[in-house]
Amino acid sequence: MTETDQPLNVAIIGGGFCGILTAINLLQDAEEYLHIHIINSEKKIACGVAYEPHTENLLLNVPNGNMGAFPDKPGHFLQWLVEMNNIPETEKEKLAVEFSPRKFYGQYLSQLWRDELDKQGYNKRIWVYNDKAVDIVENNDQLQIIATKYPAITADMVILATGNDLPNFVSGLDGALKTNSRYFGDPWKNGCIENIEDENDILIIGNGLTMVDTVLGLLENGCKQTIHTISPHGYRLKPWRDAKEPYVSETGILDNTSDLTGLVGIINKHRKLADKYGQSIYPVIDSLRPRIQTLWQSFTMDEKCQFLKKISAFWDRVRHRLPTQMHHIIEQMRADQKLVTHKGAVVSAKAKGDKIEVLINSDGIARQLTVQRIINCTGPETNITRSANELLRTLTQKGTICPGPFNLGINTDPDGCIITADGVRKPNMFVVGGNLKGILWESTAVPELRHQAKKMALHILSEINVKRSPETVG
Ligand SMILES: Cc1cc2nc3c(=O)[nH]c(=O)nc-3n(C[C@H](O)[C@H](O)[C@H](O)COP(=O)(O)OP(=O)(O)OC[C@H]3O[C@@H](n4cnc5c(N)ncnc54)[C@H](O)[C@@H]3O)c2cc1C
Repeated sequence: MTETDQPLNVAIIGGGFCGILTAINLLQDAEEYLHIHIINSEKKIACGVAYEPHTENLLLNVPNGNMGAFPDKPGHFLQWLVEMNNIPETEKEKLAVEFSPRKFYGQYLSQLWRDELDKQGYNKRIWVYNDKAVDIVENNDQLQIIATKYPAITADMVILATGNDLPNFVSGLDGALKTNSRYFGDPWKNGCIENIEDENDILIIGNGLTMVDTVLGLLENGCKQTIHTISPHGYRLKPWRDAKEPYVSETGILDNTSDLTGLVGIINKHRKLADKYGQSIYPVIDSLRPRIQTLWQSFTMDEKCQFLKKISAFWDRVRHRLPTQMHHIIEQMRADQKLVTHKGAVVSAKAKGDKIEVLINSDGIARQLTVQRIINCTGPETNITRSANELLRTLTQKGTICPGPFNLGINTDPDGCIITADGVRKPNMFVVGGNLKGILWESTAVPELRHQAKKMALHILSEINVKRSPETVG
């Protein structure tokens, strides 16, 4: 082995979609000696929070045809589905616009990962640690990942792929509820939908996609009680397929806009046309979505601020739609009053014996509820200074990482390279996934994350080449 053949060690913290796909791309594209260490806790490797749900009834919220794990093969998952289930090619087109169980997607990712592990050769090795990383210590050019079980893992580069944070504790709730078994702060743990009692209703705080997953889980576990949900804007989830015809622009929706005024102009113009023809606005936002990262980066800080204040709520509402089947179930439950969706906030909530007494403000009217449990579905905390993830909290306290713009995720350059609290760029520390929201805005789902994973792998490999250049190696 020559000096330049010394393996470079890349540690990836988090083994969900982003971590695994970055590793797979690295392994597929690297020509040199490479050792990859994946440190993953709690969730099943490759599946993360999203793709090992408790039931097959929870569906993907992106159609099969656009869930491929590789940016140059958006139909890769569709093809896998066809081959796995011996589906005739003639049905492929129909399957492309349908939504499969998220469990199937977990199986797809697990298989991609197993196939990659099988390919390990003499020059590429993978280690997987089922462990929680709690700190990263810098030691000259090396980084040491401190975890709870294994000895420190030494790496030349680290990628943070830690996924979504837990929701923050909701104001209005009595602080003592934090440790009460009737309060569920992690909506992605099965405990929150199990052991439902026959008495008293259930309160879910939040009215988004996680609320829907939780309601369906409760229903499957035999919940007969009324489920109340509450959030400041109320329930506004839309189905993927609008009742209206999809809008098709005769002139094309995209142009060369690079500022907010241009973006607003495009949205308003097509919104008016869609309204005029009684058509759905959804395709407008869908076709703008692949452009939004570039637009966001070209916005001034003031434009970003205006976007967050005036457009983001509408954008998110159109973006995060429900598969039609799930939407039907929720609408039926609402019609039957089994699901009561409130617009408002929790004023107070306090445990009293084996129940919780809650006062809510529902559309301006005070209502008293007695519930058996409260489930927090308010969505991931995006401010890392309040993170429940010990690693992110520790790195923030040390100044190794700091909040991204508008307290959204972690501050990095556009390539995901960490910028410390002192403004120093760290060429050996990176971020992929949702924590790039402040830098890229749209950094949520597979259609954009697969690009990030590929780009990150290519970037790491070019950094490795810099490290290996004769001058650097000496
Ligand atoms: C419930 C849900 C459903 C979704 N459905 C869809 C969908 O249908 N289609 C779509 O495109 N997108 C969907 N998404 C978006 C989803 O977030 C992405 O598709 C993708 O799974 C995110 O991948 P990730 O690697 O960033 O996070 P994750 O897949 O969550 O992986 C992060 C991993 O890092 C681990 N980790 C975190 N901190 C540490 C630490 N300190 N040490 C060790 N390990 C750590 C976690 O335990 C986890 O295993 C969904 C998201 C959620 C939450």
